[in-house]
Amino acid sequence: MYTSTRDSKLSLTSQQALKTGFAPDGGLYVLPTFPQLDLRQMLAVPYQEQAVQVLLALLPDFGEATVRQAVTAAYGDNFASAEITPVKTVGRIHYLELFHGPTSAFKDIGLQLLPRLLQASLAAKDRVLILAATSGDTGKAALEGFKDVPQTGIAAFYPDGGVSPIQERQMTTTGGDNTAVAAISGNFDDAQTAVKAMLNDRALAAKLAPAQLSVANSINIGRLAPQVVYYFAAYRQLVQAGTIQVGEAVNFTVPTGNFGDVLAGYYAKQLGLPVNKFIVATNANSEVADFLATGVYDRNRQFLKTSSPSMDIQISSNLERLLYYKSNGDSALVAQLMQSLAETGRYQVPADLLAAIQEDFIGDKAVDHEVEAAIRSVADAQDYLMDPHTAVGYVVQQRLAIAGPTVLLSTASPFKFPQVVAEAALGEHYSDGFEAMQVLSAAYQLPIPAPLAQLADLPVRHHQLLAPEQMPDFVRQLAKEVL
Ligand SMILES: *Cc1c(COP(=O)(O)O)cnc(C)c1O
Repeated sequence: MYTSTRDSKLSLTSQQALKTGFAPDGGLYVLPTFPQLDLRQMLAVPYQEQAVQVLLALLPDFGEATVRQAVTAAYGDNFASAEITPVKTVGRIHYLELFHGPTSAFKDIGLQLLPRLLQASLAAKDRVLILAATSGDTGKAALEGFKDVPQTGIAAFYPDGGVSPIQERQMTTTGGDNTAVAAISGNFDDAQTAVKAMLNDRALAAKLAPAQLSVANSINIGRLAPQVVYYFAAYRQLVQAGTIQVGEAVNFTVPTGNFGDVLAGYYAKQLGLPVNKFIVATNANSEVADFLATGVYDRNRQFLKTSSPSMDIQISSNLERLLYYKSNGDSALVAQLMQSLAETGRYQVPADLLAAIQEDFIGDKAVDHEVEAAIRSVADAQDYLMDPHTAVGYVVQQRLAIAGPTVLLSTASPFKFPQVVAEAALGEHYSDGFEAMQVLSAAYQLPIPAPLAQLADLPVRHHQLLAPEQMPDFVRQLAKEVL
């Protein structure tokens, strides 16, 4: 049974946890203990079967038939690679390419599956409206995942001017009869705070009933659980390539914003994957990296816009789950730390908790000029294009130089950020992202992912700009129209 990071007396099924997103006390849903997977068995099966095993372990009450059906539908030819998440070894770096899904970012791994699991857990009378605050990639991946899924609607909110032009266009051209998109005046944390306020708003809930609100970002366990799978998939590919022996510990470098991706890696380790360190890479918004070094989480600083917008985040929600596990389930302590964060923007963990965290995690940051230099040097030396988020990981991985085989998670296609990548790799500035895509494609003989290539021709269907206080009315209107 799942419980809340802030109240270990709470108990609910994984279906309930997935449907509601997060706990009434504001905490996140966690499984108090992890079952063990058989590593050899996991290494003998393809991605889809690994996914079934991981999901049955983490979401036990869904049942095998439902899980198998959802996995088969989620991970098929909607991904441009048969491996789903292929490892590309280039030079001495093992890139785990997570961007071969329909929206060219790793968010697809979770969001192709979550809607299918959610739908399976709904009764005939249930209606769910998904709210997604997005720093760029979650929004589009959630819109694609929930588009036209019966009994659901989805609203994505992104910070006005805070996502890349291609990301914005991906969202505003979304089709489907149950989708809505709006730009929000403010930054990502403003959008996320407003979404959280709506989710906790009893008056709004009463007006929407019987429809209920839920979330599609990585605070939802149904989004996190599928991301655990690709850590096993990466390990299997390294074994097959002869890079490692079965049982050998590897490191993973993870470009990090909301701490969902890297936390999924920690879950993989808890399920039995041999991992030495998780190398947590942030951009100049380095709250998490600083926390891992000092034990102090402090968001009282300037919000910085960087070339890796999907990591421009100051409050890293999923860190809360790590605090829960590393304090041995001390939900009173977690509640106290989170209250301190809400009231003062800061908390400090006890020394023994920091030491426990540092056993598995080490962090550092990379700033934009380092990211650009890394994109250029890898493009020049290896003809390989990294997107700016991946390059944040690359810089930190090279600087920390942790011993042992290391997998670098590549979280987005370079074609999602073509202007930044073209400027860094080719030294050319393009004001038109589609032109930059063409030039990169020709220069590196790489096909542009089809859904991105088509964007230029799709009509813009969504062009709302809202202040955060207008969001509840927008949501009520949407619920009326689509549910
Ligand atoms: C969301 C995202 C990240 C950060 O992932 P978290 O789970 O929020 O830490 C990194 N890179 C890209 C491209 C993303 O879309």
